[in-house]
Amino acid sequence: MENRGIQMVKMDVDELLTLLNKALADEWLAHYQYWVGAKVVAGPMSDAAATELLEHATEEMTHAELLATRIDQLGGTPILEPKEWYTLTNCGYDAPTDPYVKAVLEQNIKGEQCAIMTYKAMLNATKDKDPVTYNMALQILQDEVEHEEDLQGEMEDLEDLLKRHGA
Ligand code: FE
Ligand code: FE
Ligand code: MG
Repeated sequence: MENRGIQMVKMDVDELLTLLNKALADEWLAHYQYWVGAKVVAGPMSDAAATELLEHATEEMTHAELLATRIDQLGGTPILEPKEWYTLTNCGYDAPTDPYVKAVLEQNIKGEQCAIMTYKAMLNATKDKDPVTYNMALQILQDEVEHEEDLQGEMEDLEDLLKRHGA
């Protein structure tokens, strides 16, 4: 059946689906990194950090949802095998082997900075070619910018606290 939503895409749809599935891999890995990070995080102000991490874990799943919906609209299939997350990911996975709050925050800040670059690249790739994916990528990018900012805020609060205690 004729599908205008796909016909209007002015770029290679398979190439676009690959970009979307790579980002989907990132989001699931980010989701788990935050979720398990919230479970293990320890040290000063780790309760506040855990709350933020868990919130971000939920938001990364919302991003996965948006990506999977777009993949479906374009006639693709979202990654079916979790082990493919590792081969497709742009940003990788940093296991929180050091549960100290500063280490966990640093890992996740690094992850957000990579996510920002990934969605910026998706915007560049889809600009004037696929307004629907462009709009979705922009929506996600806004969240990732907020995530980086939130984590850096937590880090600053933590550093202030440590300074006050002469640590
Ligand atoms: Fe995300
Ligand atoms: Fe994020
Ligand atoms: Mg937040």
